[in-house]
Amino acid sequence: MRKLYVFILLFACLFALNTSIAQNKSELIKANNYLAQKGEVYFSFNISSPSEILILTNIISIDNVKNKKVWAYANRKNFPKFLEQNIPFEVLSHPGDAVVDMWDNTKGIWQFDTYPTYSEYETMMQTFATNYPNICKLDTVAILPSGHKLLIIKITDNPGADENEPEFLYTGTMHGDETTGYVLFLRLINYLTTNYGTDSRVTNIVNNMEIWICPLANPDGTYFGGDNTVTGAIRENGSFVDLNRNYPDPRTGQHPDGNAWQPETVAWMNFADNHDFVMSANTHGGASVANYPWDTWTSAQRTHADDSWWQYVSKEFADTAIANGPVGYFKDVTSTGYTEGGDWYIITGGRQDYMNYFKHCREETIELSTTKTVAGNLLPNYWGYLYRSFLNYIEQSLYGVRGIITDACTGNAIKALVTVNSHDVDSSQVYSSLPVGNYHRPIIAGTYSITYSATGYQPQTITGITVANKSTVIRDVQLSPLPPVASFTADHTTGCVPDIQFTSTSQAPAGSSYLWDFGDGQSSTLQNALHSYVSSGSYSVTLTVSNSCSGNDQIVITNYINLTLPTAPTATSVQNCGPIDFTITATGNGTINWYDAPSAGNLVHTGTSYHTPTLTTTTTYYLESVTTTTGASQYAGKVDNVGT
Ligand SMILES: [Zn+2]
Repeated sequence: MRKLYVFILLFACLFALNTSIAQNKSELIKANNYLAQKGEVYFSFNISSPSEILILTNIISIDNVKNKKVWAYANRKNFPKFLEQNIPFEVLSHPGDAVVDMWDNTKGIWQFDTYPTYSEYETMMQTFATNYPNICKLDTVAILPSGHKLLIIKITDNPGADENEPEFLYTGTMHGDETTGYVLFLRLINYLTTNYGTDSRVTNIVNNMEIWICPLANPDGTYFGGDNTVTGAIRENGSFVDLNRNYPDPRTGQHPDGNAWQPETVAWMNFADNHDFVMSANTHGGASVANYPWDTWTSAQRTHADDSWWQYVSKEFADTAIANGPVGYFKDVTSTGYTEGGDWYIITGGRQDYMNYFKHCREETIELSTTKTVAGNLLPNYWGYLYRSFLNYIEQSLYGVRGIITDACTGNAIKALVTVNSHDVDSSQVYSSLPVGNYHRPIIAGTYSITYSATGYQPQTITGITVANKSTVIRDVQLSPLPPVASFTADHTTGCVPDIQFTSTSQAPAGSSYLWDFGDGQSSTLQNALHSYVSSGSYSVTLTVSNSCSGNDQIVITNYINLTLPTAPTATSVQNCGPIDFTITATGNGTINWYDAPSAGNLVHTGTSYHTPTLTTTTTYYLESVTTTTGASQYAGKVDNVGT
């Protein structure tokens, strides 16, 4: 009886395996066709446990998870790794292959019911800036190797000036085939510019904020099928990298996807460095939901310090979209229309978590439409569902606690850290922004204690700051400068390398002055100074830090620098009437190299004696002696010698 049981079980297993192989074989052919023609395949499969996502999210680009069904993208590089998992899958039509209406420029006025060609997109962005120069500025975040540009429009009342206003960022379509946000953000730019001065809400937003909108963050992906159509779009960029998996991740490090940072990623990282964005969002398609931090952790693992604020802001976005959308809109992922990212499914390397964790910004990921590449004639419907939510989200940057932080003595703006006590964690604290010194801290209604601090200043804590939702509390802060405390380090203090980088580690208020005495008669007034010593010896170094308000401090480190510099090689000039050839002999340490120029130039010989070619004119050679200590080369400089 037992033998029979085993036999039946084995038979059943073989049958299941055969079915799976047969099913995967036909799907594999389809997948390979997509990979060959398009470089990217879209497919779905089932999992038995949510924990499988944690492994798969590192292999392929997971796009949606519902119950235990997963939708995902893969490319030629990572699809073989997915196949190794032996999971049956079904290949789906690629969303970017949807045939959609492109704008016919003979139609005249833009109706936002078609997609622009790439060149029309550039023209539109330029047209906004040209038509509304008082509230618009066009900027190029980057020119990609393809020649496509990451264009961005700044909308504010004085676009050329830094003002006491929060900076806000919207970027659309970082996944090239999720095109809804692309056109809706073009329309949002149009809405803000055309209604400025007539619509009080728009006028208030534009007057009091600096809004940056990049409708198309992945032009290479969207126009993968050619610059004249978005049909043929792919999710990834032109190098088949998912741009929303390519950022440093708070949990898994600098390169969570194993790829180098793409030009698009580097561009946005630099752009974030050069601005102080208070809030931002990136938009997607394939679902309709507001997805708030974190993406790399579930809410059970780690919540954002402002989790309750995130739920409040996301609920406002979703409720407004639900109220203005058709039945079921913003309910396909959760019944509420919003979710913590990791609770939906964990991803790493997303821009949302990067902006929150590394840039002290509040960014969420907004999925706008279950269809990725929406038909052109449906785009106006989506505008109707969403534009109020877009405005609500922008306006949240104006609320919470804000103010300007200055030096109590000079009145100058300073960059200071603003920490909400017993609240901030994981980079949720914010900094004031130069040159104005303004800070903006959106926060859920409550009563808070906030500490303001900056190097060289007496920290200041304000307690009992009570904030209501959708309201603003202003707390300007003057920090008192502390007397400077001078200190410094150097990149090396001994050895034979004469160029030394000195770095002030002083605690000193902004605007303090610095005076270095390097002990060899030379000095510098830079805060951090690179100094080159010309001879061996022992040198005492002095740094004096002076502040007009809070006093001076000086530190002297006796015999701090001890250098043993190599000696330069020498050779004796030889003369004769030519044409003639010579042997020139040099003396020096280590290996002697002969060059035909004082820097760069050609290496003509190595060794102590050089027999020149036949010379017909006065010729100069330059010598270099190279000595090697612990594997490194040191250069003692070149000495010229003359032969005729
Ligand atoms: Zn997406």
